[in-house]
Amino acid sequence: MAKYSNKINKVRTFALSLIFIGFIVMYAGIFFRSSPLVMTIFMILGLLFIIASTVVYFWIGMLSTKTVQVVCPNCGKHTKMLGRVDICMYCNEPLTLDQSLEGKEFDEQYNRKQQK
Ligand SMILES: [Zn+2]
Repeated sequence: MAKYSNKINKVRTFALSLIFIGFIVMYAGIFFRSSPLVMTIFMILGLLFIIASTVVYFWIGMLSTKTVQVVCPNCGKHTKMLGRVDICMYCNEPLTLDQSLEGKEFDEQYNRKQQK
C-alpha cells in the first residue's frame, strides 16, 4: 500500500529539499574554483534551485488560504486539509470533507476533478 502524507507537509518538504539541493550545488561549485565558467554555472544552477524553492513556498502560501482547518477525530488536534480528502498532519488519520466518501478507503484519486 502506498504511503500517504499530509499535502501541505509534502509541499513543505519538497520546498525545503529544493533549498538543500541549491546549497549543495552551489557548494559543489567551490570545488571548481580553477574554472570560473564551471563555477559560475554551478552558482547559477544553485541559485535557480533556491528561486524555485521560493516559488514553491509562495505557492504554499497561496494554497494555505484554501485549506480548511478541522479537528482530527483521531488525535483531537487542529489540522489543515486540502482538497476533498487529506491526511492528518499529526497522526496520519485519513480525513474527508465529503460525507459520501466517509468510511471509504482513503484514495488520493478523490481529489481529482470529477468529470461531469
Ligand atoms: Zn490526527
